[in-house]
Amino acid sequence: MFAKGLQCRSCGAHYSLENRYSCEACGGILEVTYNYPQAFVQQPIINPDASFDGMWKYRALLPVKDAQNIVTLGEGNTPLLDALRLSDQWRAPVRLLLKAEMLNPSGSFKDRPSSVGVSVAKERGYKKIVISSSGNASAAAAAYAARAGMECVVFVPASTDPNKVVQAQAYGARVLCVPGNFSAAYDMANVCTRRFGWANVTSTFLNPYTVEGDKTPAYELYHQLGGKAPDYVIIPIGAGPLLVGMYKGFCELLEMQLIHTLPKMIGVQVDACEPIARAFAAGSNAVQGWEHPIDTIAGGIADPLLGYANDGTLTLAVARKSGGAILSLSEAEIWQAMREVEQVIGLYCEPTGAVAVGAVKKLWEQDALEKDATIVSMLTGHGFKFSGRRAQKPPLIENADQLEQIVG
Ligand SMILES: *Cc1c(COP(=O)(O)O)cnc(C)c1O
Ligand SMILES: [Zn+2]
Repeated sequence: MFAKGLQCRSCGAHYSLENRYSCEACGGILEVTYNYPQAFVQQPIINPDASFDGMWKYRALLPVKDAQNIVTLGEGNTPLLDALRLSDQWRAPVRLLLKAEMLNPSGSFKDRPSSVGVSVAKERGYKKIVISSSGNASAAAAAYAARAGMECVVFVPASTDPNKVVQAQAYGARVLCVPGNFSAAYDMANVCTRRFGWANVTSTFLNPYTVEGDKTPAYELYHQLGGKAPDYVIIPIGAGPLLVGMYKGFCELLEMQLIHTLPKMIGVQVDACEPIARAFAAGSNAVQGWEHPIDTIAGGIADPLLGYANDGTLTLAVARKSGGAILSLSEAEIWQAMREVEQVIGLYCEPTGAVAVGAVKKLWEQDALEKDATIVSMLTGHGFKFSGRRAQKPPLIENADQLEQIVG
């Protein structure tokens, strides 16, 4: 293991690899640091650990010391598929590729950060994890807790549709409601961490270890693209750990001199909840929490960031630094993107994941992408997660004479 310590992203203060959720000096966001030069010379990640076939083959650059503590369900190693027929249909001469993250074990990319978060918790001897999330993150945390033989407590706002927590409950998690909005649930998880010492794997930037799992799609893309980085990566963002984590992964590849250019990171939000896109458009450096009511089919990224707007500020800064952008889509654009992914590509994805495809079309129409650019869209979540489709009653064929009329 080459992980060295924790460092504050704001003031630079150093800490050892301990369970710590913010900088003691300034309250800033922490990240894991590595002994890079040594790691890269001695064990470059182009020689992955053959004893794992998912994302843990890159374990030299993940913060778990002993392989015995790795809690895995085979996450990672997801397919990268061309979307040629779709880009043709749009008359967009770009090389669009789709990273099928919905094929992770619990149906979303959240398995990557959860696997790392739960593994680190196991290595430290924790028996209980806590998370605030009303969707994919709680399902993933519950799955890995089950795999590790740990208890999992999930806090959600009282208004949460019970359908969104069935998967977490199925894995045996204790799901509890909190009056108020998401930030009330977030606070309650923090109280448990302080009072009972449970490991908090809430998938914002709170837990510095989980974000390390979000680096791993960058390593996989490097291999899948034959030793290169794409020109653009398009990512649905709530708070944005996947965007920030993937960028860190590419920066490591650059530092290792395995790649020579970094991709532009494009974050995608929805019009109904776009705190980061709004700050980007306004040219502001600071993201403000979203106070308006939210109604969208893309629930996985409808994060108002109330109480932790700094997380959005970090994501905004990383997207800008990469030369990328943050944009948002309307509900109609999301529906259309989802239909295109399903009917032109043949992948079943949830609306939140489809925004990464809708954004490419929108950017092309705005003249924001170059011809022949290599673009990777992250299809972050599975269609099975979404209960908002209305079933169509199939037409009845009573005798064979009707066939010509209906399907002939
Ligand atoms: C959580 C989630 C996102 C947003 O990811 P963050 O990195 O947490 O902002 C995107 N898509 C899906 C399907 C998700 O579950
Ligand atoms: Zn600090």
